[in-house]
Parts: sequence; C-alpha cells; structure tokens
Amino acid sequence: MRVLAGGIYHESHSFSNIPTDIEAFKSVLYLQGREVVEELGGTVSEMAGFIEGAEKYGFELIPTLWAWGLATGPVTAAALDEMIGVVHQAYQDNDGIDGVLFTLHGAMVSEPLPDGDGYILSRFREFMGDVHIAVTLDLHANISSLMVEKADIIVGYDTYPHIDQVERGLEAAELLARAIRDEIKPVMSMAKPPMVVVPNRQFTAEAPMKHLFDLAIEAEAEPGVLSVTVAGGFAYSDVPEIGPAVVVITDNNAQLGQQRADAIADRFWELRDDFVPKPADIPTAVQRAIESSSTPVILADVGDNIGAGTPGDSTFILSELLDKGATDAVVIIADPSSVEKAVAAGVGERVSLQIGGKTDRFHGEPVEVRAEVTLISNGVFRNRGQMRDGIVEDMGRTAVVAVGGVKIVLTEKKMPPWNLEQLRSVGISPESQKIIVVKSAVAFRAAYEPIAGEIIEVDSPGLSSVNLGQFNFKNIRPGLFPFS
Ligand SMILES: [Zn+2]
Repeated sequence: MRVLAGGIYHESHSFSNIPTDIEAFKSVLYLQGREVVEELGGTVSEMAGFIEGAEKYGFELIPTLWAWGLATGPVTAAALDEMIGVVHQAYQDNDGIDGVLFTLHGAMVSEPLPDGDGYILSRFREFMGDVHIAVTLDLHANISSLMVEKADIIVGYDTYPHIDQVERGLEAAELLARAIRDEIKPVMSMAKPPMVVVPNRQFTAEAPMKHLFDLAIEAEAEPGVLSVTVAGGFAYSDVPEIGPAVVVITDNNAQLGQQRADAIADRFWELRDDFVPKPADIPTAVQRAIESSSTPVILADVGDNIGAGTPGDSTFILSELLDKGATDAVVIIADPSSVEKAVAAGVGERVSLQIGGKTDRFHGEPVEVRAEVTLISNGVFRNRGQMRDGIVEDMGRTAVVAVGGVKIVLTEKKMPPWNLEQLRSVGISPESQKIIVVKSAVAFRAAYEPIAGEIIEVDSPGLSSVNLGQFNFKNIRPGLFPFS
C-alpha cells in the first residue's frame, strides 16, 4: 500500500494587504521530498502523525511537500500551481498510489477560486481519479461543500490552541488505511449553522466550544460513526461558505451522518449569543494590568492576532503602556526598519525609533521613542512544550530595546506568541514579568496560561478585531449571525 503525503497550509485574511506568493511559504516552512520526513518526524505536526500512521497501519509513505505559511492575504495562482505541481509530479513518478494523506488549513482564499482548499482538492481529483484522499483541517476551517465532495475523509483539529496535530494526522492515516483495505466505506455528511464566530470565542477548553466537542465525542462513540469534526470557521475570509461546520463520517450511512451533523449544528446555532465576545477596552485593560497583583498579567491584543493574518505591528496597547508609565512590561512588535536602526546603533546605545504601525491603516500610528538597545539576536529558536514542540521558528534579526519600564522586542518577521521560548531566546524570563502583551486571541494560552497570574482579552482595533461590521464583506452568504 503506497500513500502520498504532504501539506499546503494557509489561513487567508481577505482584508490583509499582504499578498501570499510562493515566497510567503518559502520564508516560513517549505520542505520537499525526504526533507519533509526528516524535519517533521517527531514534532507536533500532522506529518508526524502520518509518519507514525504509516508504521502502525502498514503502508509506505511517500512525502511530497510541506508548505506552511503564516496567515496573510489571498494565495496567488502561481504559488498554488507550483505547489500542486510538486504533488502532481510525485504522483506521476510513483506507480501504484493507493491514497493521499494531506494537510490543508481549510480557510485558504485563493486567486483561482475563493475556496482555495476546494480548488487544491479539485486539482488533485483531476489527476488522481478515484484514489482515496484523506485530509486534515485546522479548527478554523471554513469547510465547503466542494471540499466534502472532492475529499473522501476530512479530519479536523479538536483543540484551540491547536495541540492535537499528531493525533489528527494519525486518525486520518487510520481511516485512510481502512478505506483502502475496503474495511470501511467512509461517507461524509456536513451541516453549517448560519453564523460567523470570531477566534477568541473558539477556545475549546471552555463553553460554548467545549459543549459542542462533548457532543462530537458522544456521537463518535456511536456504532457506524467513524469521525466527527467540529470547525469554528475563520471570520476574516470573505467567502460564501464562511463560518462553522460539522462534518460526520459514517461507515456508508449518510442518513445517520446527516442527522448527527444537523443536531450538533443546531446546538451551535442555539448557543450563538454565547459566541459573541466581550473584551475589555484598552484603557481599562491596561489600568487593570498595572494594578494587578497576580502577575504576569497577559494582555491579549485580540485585534492584532498574528495567527489570524494581522501584521503584528499594532501600537495601541504599547502607547497606552508608555503613557501610563507601566513597568516590567513586554511587547513584541514586528518592525524590520526599527530592527535595522537598533542593530546599527548597537547594544548599550540609545536610538530614536518610530516603532510599529507601518503596515496598514488598521493598527495605529508609529510610536516615537528614545530607546536603549539591550540585546541583539538572530531571532531563531526551537519550540518546547505542547505547542509546536520541536519546530524551529525564525523571527529574523531581533533587537530588544527598553523605553522606561517597557521592553520592546523588535523582530524582522512577525511571529505569533505560540511558545515561551520566543521570549526566553532573547533573554526575557516570561515568569518574572509583570505585564506581557501577546498578539493573539487564544493560541497563546497553550504556552502562557500555565504561567499567567491573570489573562485579560483586550478589545483592540485591527484586522482581527471582534467588530466584524468594520469589514466590507462582499461574498459571504446572506443572513449570517451576527451580521443580520
Ligand atoms: Zn487555527
């Protein structure tokens, strides 16, 4: 049994002004052939689950590519052609392919088709015919009817912060192997409640999401039900099939699958008011953080959630911290030109900087400061712990500067706060800070919740603002809550 494996993972923000070309993948993580297995074996990734699955369920795994980009704007046609071309070539070079195990995000928007993941799967079908295709999807997938039509098996994450990539990779591998051996006949049924949910209400350890996953686990225990996926959707993709979905895979029982999918989707809808967030305004949040005795206080900059496709250079909370004279506070800002100036000045020197607010009009004005450069680093670190364990990250050249009691970590490339090693790698002990600003809605919790004294979600402006009314959606289907 021979199985092609790979991944093209991108969450696209329709209102980001940063286009996603092939370089956007190559500058983050782009592996081909054997490299895929060598780099990702044993990490927290779906590929590690595929590799484990190949051994456990007895098939030969043929790696193709692993293209992983940070969320930015829609993906170009040329980038998709190049990446799909790698898979096509591998398919032609290898005889007797029985199946495909592939990782997609599920909220890719692309030039050739708004439903980028549906487009990839359609192209796979064109050259693979009826080979079994199993895909894993992120919890923020906007699952479409085209994806369900073109894939045989869809397995979505059960966690946000996302920490179950290995398990889901393994689950997809098991279902695929059983389907190839004719032990099961997977049939997918989907239901989509007419609503959109912002990321910071999709935390899976708490209600309302936890409630839906409890129902999913219950349904998965029923005879004939093979897998249940609950996806929260991605609120910033301007596509018709935006929003949550429930996908139930049964062993050739579409009626049972549809009943269970409808029931969970109905519950989603009943809970719609609980999915509306209530973050604190910036002055209130910063004042509370300064006065708090439960430290470190984590201020979640929900509007500049890098994982959702924002630039990571928002200055609203930084300005407020400086205005209020906060001490022992840390903010990370992606700002290559300020890095350049700090590096040119050197450690121990003082330098005039205009920090952040440079990418677009959503994330505040640059903040003018006189800062002392305290550290310069290459910005490379390896993650430790449950979130992305073992994966090496690269923030580009990085400089730490101090302005009064506020430490500002300036990075060339944006990097979500997924792991404590990010701060430790630049000499900052997260546990000893009073205030840490994280540009994230929920993903930061895997790393920061264990050390946090208090977590405050901040209603900051930005491309991942909870106020969806500010975006000019043109393609979403009508009648979606909370829009109407
Ligand atoms: Zn996600």
